[in-house]
Amino acid sequence: MLALSKTADGVGGIALTEPDVPDPGPGEFRLKVAAAGICGTDMQIYHWAPRMARRMALPRILGHEVSGVVEAVGAGVTRVALGDHVSLESHIYCGVCVPCKRGRAHLCEATQYPGIDIDGAFASHVVVPEVIAWKNPKNLPHEDAAMLEPFGIAVHACMEGSGVTDQSVLVNGCGPIGLMAVAAARALGAATIIASDPNELRRAQALKSGADHAFDPSAVDLVAAISDVTDNAGVDAAIEFSGQPDGFRGSIGSVAKGGDFRLVGAPAHPLELDLTQWLLRCPRIVNIHGRRIWESWESATKLIENRAVDLAPIRSHVLPLSEGVRGFDLILKGEALKPLLIPG
Ligand SMILES: [Zn+2]
Ligand SMILES: [Zn+2]
Repeated sequence: MLALSKTADGVGGIALTEPDVPDPGPGEFRLKVAAAGICGTDMQIYHWAPRMARRMALPRILGHEVSGVVEAVGAGVTRVALGDHVSLESHIYCGVCVPCKRGRAHLCEATQYPGIDIDGAFASHVVVPEVIAWKNPKNLPHEDAAMLEPFGIAVHACMEGSGVTDQSVLVNGCGPIGLMAVAAARALGAATIIASDPNELRRAQALKSGADHAFDPSAVDLVAAISDVTDNAGVDAAIEFSGQPDGFRGSIGSVAKGGDFRLVGAPAHPLELDLTQWLLRCPRIVNIHGRRIWESWESATKLIENRAVDLAPIRSHVLPLSEGVRGFDLILKGEALKPLLIPG
């Protein structure tokens, strides 16, 4: 079969490969891939970020944002059947650790990921454990269903803490998940949505997806600009997706007294945090890691099914898998939002 794999360490090293079609073992199933999205995590693998380099055995088929049809099941599989339309939760959780047992499988102590720890979905077929199968209604288009995994993070970020309903919300960093958060916040009844991103394409899409304001943090003082449009109050909820030190400072600096600071983007290095300011202004700091399994999936699927959110504009490119390397190039050049890859 055709696949797109990380074949060599260092930056780049992404190439088409032709591994055999895998067979499912006990508790596993094989998905015939219909669509798969390129994610920021795939870009981290492209750049061979240290935490990836430490754990990945090469060659590895990439990709974990996927929708497809169940084509074969291994022994003992009960959660899916042949012909089911399925998206994948990307956190393969163990089910037996303390967080898993307490209903917080998104914080599993032993999480593994398709496309990192096992072969992923940039291929015509992928084999995964049945525990990560999310069954979709058959009328949900695969191109939307392949975006449920990242959209689930956006929905999770909008629903944690104080939520977004009737609140002023900052979405800092308008990559695909930030843009999805803008759309989700609009659908969930946010009062005011402020987007921030240095990339003009992303700011333009943020406005189309429902933002009331879109600021370029490289051109304006973000904290001052947000103060201006919120009657000097700051935002009720700042959701930080960029992972950049400036984004972190701008977001936490823009939170209203007692508001929410929700961190989604992982900073590459330790950051300074003024705890005296934190004490005086009392923001609640909320960690958004992945999605709630399966609450975020339920909410995300409903928002798409009910057409409260349209993911189509965020899906900037739909490419054949054979042109997958181009998808990476488009992201590197800042020309793509979310490219999807379609196996032939
Ligand atoms: Zn992803
Ligand atoms: Zn676990």
